[in-house]
Amino acid sequence: MPPYDVAIIGAGVTGTALAHVLTRYTDVASVALVERYAAVAQVNSKSTANSQTLHFGDIETNYTPEKARRVAQAASRVARYLERTRAAGIGQVCPKMVLGVGADEVALLKRRHEALKPVFPGLVLLDRDGVAAAEPAVVEERDPAVPLAALKAPDGPAVDFGLLSGSFLEDARATAKRVDVSLGRRVGAVERRGGLFRLEPQGIEARTVVAAAGAMSLLFAHRLGYGRDFAILPVAGDFYVAPRSLKGKVYTVQDDSLPFAAVHGDPDLSDPKITRFGPTARVLPLLERGDLGSFWGFLQSTRFDPLLALRAAGLLADPAVRGFALRNALYTVPVLGARAFAAEARKIVPGLAAGDLRPAPWPGGIRPQLIDRRTGRLELGEAKLEGDRILFDVTPSPGASVCLKSAEDDARVLAGWLGKAFDEKSFERDCS
Ligand SMILES: Cc1cc2nc3c(=O)[nH]c(=O)nc-3n(C[C@H](O)[C@H](O)[C@H](O)COP(=O)(O)OP(=O)(O)OC[C@H]3O[C@@H](n4cnc5c(N)ncnc54)[C@H](O)[C@@H]3O)c2cc1C
Repeated sequence: MPPYDVAIIGAGVTGTALAHVLTRYTDVASVALVERYAAVAQVNSKSTANSQTLHFGDIETNYTPEKARRVAQAASRVARYLERTRAAGIGQVCPKMVLGVGADEVALLKRRHEALKPVFPGLVLLDRDGVAAAEPAVVEERDPAVPLAALKAPDGPAVDFGLLSGSFLEDARATAKRVDVSLGRRVGAVERRGGLFRLEPQGIEARTVVAAAGAMSLLFAHRLGYGRDFAILPVAGDFYVAPRSLKGKVYTVQDDSLPFAAVHGDPDLSDPKITRFGPTARVLPLLERGDLGSFWGFLQSTRFDPLLALRAAGLLADPAVRGFALRNALYTVPVLGARAFAAEARKIVPGLAAGDLRPAPWPGGIRPQLIDRRTGRLELGEAKLEGDRILFDVTPSPGASVCLKSAEDDARVLAGWLGKAFDEKSFERDCS
């Protein structure tokens, strides 16, 4: 059998978006997609593993206006795909806002509103009455003396990224291209043989490869001699659930000294009777939730460097980071955890009682944050490593929102390597 033009490892939203873009918008002739589980999107792209937010950057106060502009452009590609395909159940339109509590946060939202106006003309600054009208539970039982405001974005889709992955794959398979999908097959190694790559033990040969395997992508890179200055800091995120109290997504102002999104409240796409609060953020020495074998992968990603552990521990020297880490550790303690978390969730819904909250009956995902081994610095956001005819996508949040932009970038590079064309006109027509 002739070798594939492209082999993709991993059928989460990143790998399946790439299969869709390659087959629709390039003249790449053949794609192999290999996934270790028996179905697509069983890891971070699964709807229970993430917050289901299509991030535009309008309610994420930790994004600079420049980053917000970039993320908005990327996310709008997903929104366009949803409009075009009209596939039922993948995206549900819901209201969204970021809440400011107290004088400092209210002032910050006012400044942010001014700064973001050119990027998001539809963003509205709400006072307390406006917040009460949009999200009554946010104002009920709140101390009237504490200033309150919100930035409300136009309603937008919350997304089941698992269903989106399935839709991308279905679309790729509906084209006339050769698309072979191997589910339930774990790629153990990528070897170079002559001018080709060979995925083992499947024996799949390809001219180019993309590791779209989440945290595992970095391990593939290391084995081939790339990205060795980076390790993975795996940050697990879990959710608490409570009876539905919010109409839409309510984000909170981010503490700038902390590298992760503050707790928010979100409707759950598959259960309209609940509101999710979270995610928490806890460092776990695993590359994949529930896969104890991935502890070994975590150690490999650090390349057994004791200095790295010291550098990572150095992050805890900052009292805000230390407090955050301790609070998040506490959230996992039975009974006490729910009480401690309720204090955090009450910033959003003051009337919440600890008894209303229970840990979600499913595990959340793991954000594979890259850490620079030389400096101990966390690299936020998704990252791409490029080797010789091989790409590695490492995808912490907002990796799912930017999946089509990531696919576009990868497809352009792959088409260049393969001497194939990227159909700019059709891509522009469909996705911009
Ligand atoms: C708590 C939390 C909340 C989040 N919230 C959001 C959000 O609201 N919005 C947003 O945009 N992003 C969010 N994210 C990030 C988002 O979930 C990820 O960026 C996205 O799902 C990554 O998709 P992926 O396809 O790259 O990785 P994954 O979905 O993890 O897919 C990787 C695939 O590779 C497969 N694989 C791995 N190793 C192998 C191998 N050796 N052989 C074969 N297959 C392999 C895996 O089985 C898996 O199917 C969140 C993440 C977390 C943890």
